[in-house]
Amino acid sequence: MNSNQEWKARKDAATPRGVGVMCNFYAERAENSEIWDIEGNRYIDFASGIAVLNTGHRHPKIVAAIKKQLDSFTHTAYQIVPYSIYVDLAEKINKLTPGNHAKKTAFFTTGAEAVENAIKIARSATKRPGVVAFSGAFHGRTSMGMALTGKVDPYKLGFGPFPGGVYHAPFPNEVHGMSVDDALKCLNILFKTDIEPASVAAIIIEPIQGEGGFCVTPKPFMQALRTICDQHGILLIADEIQTGFARTGKLFAMEHYGVIPDLMTIAKSLAGGMPLSGVCGRAEIMDAPNPGGLGGTYAGNALAVASALAVLEVIEEEKLCERANVLGQRLTKQLNDTMQQDKNVANRVAEVRGFGSMIAIEFKHPDTGVPDPDFTKKVQAHALSKGLLLLTCGVYGNVIRFLFPLTIPDALMTEALAILDESLRVK
Ligand code: PMP
Repeated sequence: MNSNQEWKARKDAATPRGVGVMCNFYAERAENSEIWDIEGNRYIDFASGIAVLNTGHRHPKIVAAIKKQLDSFTHTAYQIVPYSIYVDLAEKINKLTPGNHAKKTAFFTTGAEAVENAIKIARSATKRPGVVAFSGAFHGRTSMGMALTGKVDPYKLGFGPFPGGVYHAPFPNEVHGMSVDDALKCLNILFKTDIEPASVAAIIIEPIQGEGGFCVTPKPFMQALRTICDQHGILLIADEIQTGFARTGKLFAMEHYGVIPDLMTIAKSLAGGMPLSGVCGRAEIMDAPNPGGLGGTYAGNALAVASALAVLEVIEEEKLCERANVLGQRLTKQLNDTMQQDKNVANRVAEVRGFGSMIAIEFKHPDTGVPDPDFTKKVQAHALSKGLLLLTCGVYGNVIRFLFPLTIPDALMTEALAILDESLRVK
């Protein structure tokens, strides 16, 4: 039994439809920026397992680090028998994240778990209940993650009620008619109508919204949030789960803003395909919860931590921040060339945006200007039929985001961009 079709029938019978699956083929092996399925078909991977593989599939150095750890031990539970590599990784993250103040880092397993813990830490440190998040945000699928997420379908649909104390303010997005000034006004209204700022523990924001459509937080907005937080003793949490580890051309997206967050959530490309997340922040804030208040059986798993240490080395040695900028420029040039050559494409594009290699293209209906998820799906389906794996995103599902490994060879990028060019012209 080894056909994609047969496995799909078995999947449909054995697993719930709530675990939605995008592709109808089954992975057999993967190398750097390519995946082969069980029928031998090859795909160029512009998804990176949802932003996890900035260092590519099975980078030799990362594989070697995991194998070495596998031969030592896999699991002791850090809270029971600690291991030095956890401390080593925490020290490195403390040094590499924005801000020269004293920091501490705790590791977890998934992104949602990092978000949950960032909120726990913020509430514990401030002794306040409230949390403000933004429309279009995605912070995970756990109860608090869902509560913070600013998109109903499919993430929150039918799963309420959600934990209390969470408030949403509009995300500033000019393409959808929300200016920075308007968004700040709405935040001030929220402070008048829903919760007083003195009861707010934290404001959580993605510097670039990931699932929400690669919407870039405008710099003046981020700076205003920092000022508001300082005025009212609110903690600023940057959710860098999707933006981190060289994707945006800097190690962390907050470096583009000159704004230092109090807490930061990290995951995804932190460990190059192993499940690992973390919360890094001001030492005194991180120390607020009592011993035993933070952790988890698998939190900071040894194999994942060993992998993360190798990821950090690869990012530095292979200058992946610089590479993210070069690849992002190549991609943006291709998108602009296609738009210039084909008026039909240009008429459908609402915006090309992003930093470094965190680039997205948003589509609108050429006649009405409204978001066009159908055309977006068509482009994605055409690309997939030609062997290029693309992801969509956006509150309206009308955005294609590009998440190729930053280790992608130039020749493969050329091949992928040709498929993209053809896919954008689809009728
Ligand atoms: N925050 C952000 C910004 C994310 O992009 C994601 C995952 N897409 C999460 C949180 C949740 O991470 P996980 O799926 O690992 O729980």
